Amino acid sequence: MSQSETRATVLALYPEDSREAAALLKQAVPLMVRHNIPPNPVHYALWYTYSKGQVPELNRQLDKVLEDFPQFPPESASKLFRDYIIRDELEVARAGQQQAINLVDDMARNVSRSVEGNRSFQTSLGHCLDMLEAPADERLPDILSELQQSTRLMQSQQERFLSQLHSAQDEIKSLRDKLQRAQLAATLDGLTELLNRAALTHVLEQALARPSQGFALVILDIDHFKQFNDQYGHPLGDRVLQHVAQTLRNALPAHAHAARYGGEEFCVVLEQCPDHATARAFAEQLRLKIQSLRIKTRGDGKLLDTITASFGTALAQPDDTLDSLLVRADDALYRAKHNGRNQVM
Ligand code: GH3
Ligand code: MG
Ligand code: MG
Repeated sequence: MSQSETRATVLALYPEDSREAAALLKQAVPLMVRHNIPPNPVHYALWYTYSKGQVPELNRQLDKVLEDFPQFPPESASKLFRDYIIRDELEVARAGQQQAINLVDDMARNVSRSVEGNRSFQTSLGHCLDMLEAPADERLPDILSELQQSTRLMQSQQERFLSQLHSAQDEIKSLRDKLQRAQLAATLDGLTELLNRAALTHVLEQALARPSQGFALVILDIDHFKQFNDQYGHPLGDRVLQHVAQTLRNALPAHAHAARYGGEEFCVVLEQCPDHATARAFAEQLRLKIQSLRIKTRGDGKLLDTITASFGTALAQPDDTLDSLLVRADDALYRAKHNGRNQVM
């Protein structure tokens, strides 16, 4: 207890008014002087209480010390002060301490409830708290090393997780690429890389499901292709199919799809096509381009016979089905063939 704390405690213990206090001190001070007792708050408190006669046991003890020692020993003063003057105060302080402990216990229980479900956190927290019970300067290195270890563990777990995540990302990317290639292969014709028949069917069904937007179907068939194959051979026939396919691709307007319907037959779906005239104009343009193709043999560079194709067009009607549309376009193609080929109907 520091001097100022002692003074405060002593003052609190003596509620007498100043006249009463002065009278008591008039008795105490001569006693102190007589016994050569140095003037300090503890001594004043002791001899003041002695003069007051409030604590008889203190008076007996003080009388005994004065008999036993020629010089009043300072350690006796402190002990008597603690035992007889601030003893009640200490009782109050102890009660306060218990209240504080109860409060802390309540808080600990609340904290414990709030961290339920996170046992590991609670355990490590508890461990840290245990370590903190010991003086910090001794245990500080242990606490820091514990923190360091758990941080390193977290870091390595994080790194492992990240690398797993990265390889999973790579795996997903390669799977997605494979899937995309497979999807593409399923919709494209192997020889010409135009849409295949299944994909064409899908495009037509989708277009038929949007009756508000008019569209046209153009179907074309290479003229006398059997004869061509017979004359030049199948491989050169394949090259012709590829050249025709490329011509279709180059001629496609926006919102149009080209497909190999089968053999030497091709289809073009013209979406957002308002009338017959637009479809016919497109087909006519394509017919001229195919007719203009100049294909040479690879070996001797000999120019092949001109390729021509016949065309049938059909503008989708509100009550059209896939079959009715295809039949109409096919009928027009048949008429073009029947009418002398290399023409649009
Ligand atoms: P048309 O003017 O009436 O259409 O006569 P065409 O000879 O073209 O008609 P046809 O249906 O009699 O013969 C089609 C030929 O197309 C038969 C076949 O040899 C050829 N053909 C079909 N598919 C392929 C192919 O993938 N490659 C090659 N090289 N020829 C094919
Ligand atoms: Mg044919
Ligand atoms: Mg043909």
